[in-house]
Amino acid sequence: VRIYDVSMTIHPRMAVWKRNQERLPVFTIERDFDVDGTGSRQTRVSLDMHTGTHVDAPLHFLAHGSPIENTGLDKLVRPVRVLDLTNVEDKITRLDLENFRFGAGDFLLLKTKNSYVDEFDFEFVYLERTGAAYLVEREIAGVGIDALGIDRSQADHATHKQLLSNEIVIIEGLRLGDVPAGDYFMVALPLKLQGVEAAPARVILFGVPENEGAAQER
Ligand SMILES: [Zn+2]
Repeated sequence: VRIYDVSMTIHPRMAVWKRNQERLPVFTIERDFDVDGTGSRQTRVSLDMHTGTHVDAPLHFLAHGSPIENTGLDKLVRPVRVLDLTNVEDKITRLDLENFRFGAGDFLLLKTKNSYVDEFDFEFVYLERTGAAYLVEREIAGVGIDALGIDRSQADHATHKQLLSNEIVIIEGLRLGDVPAGDYFMVALPLKLQGVEAAPARVILFGVPENEGAAQER
């Protein structure tokens, strides 16, 4: 079974939202080895919760929404479908998504040309409000995208709000460049932090046998 690590590596010069320097993770070595090699190292990292690959909780955009520790593992450790949207320019709309087969309870990972760009791109491909509305209508369980945000240039944050208010899990910052479209089993584990609106996560995908994938087709 091939394992795909679809997480970003967290480091001090990584891509961050709008290239805002204040969002860069800060690594501080608080204690280190002596010159003779004795002792030990201890590092402290200061991390924005939306750094790299991360999971958003309803509390991100809903004042009384639930925090990340309430997002059950059953919603994050499960089958997923990677959709090839690499031909889409600018934004993913309802029309783009209508080409694909999926339905209630499915978890979709949207693979776009973002997966082939490493620095933060101000014009990244995002999920536009009609695309989000369509996913709500189809009652999907979750959606992931290969950009640091699922929303861009929509002043009312319509995409986040529609998804989060319908308890649809959002994963952002995926790296799907090596992953062909198809069905996989996902393990997405946000850090178990209390009361926060999002948390960085290690996300991996396992290939599933051909017949298992076919069985999921409707
Ligand atoms: Zn986020």
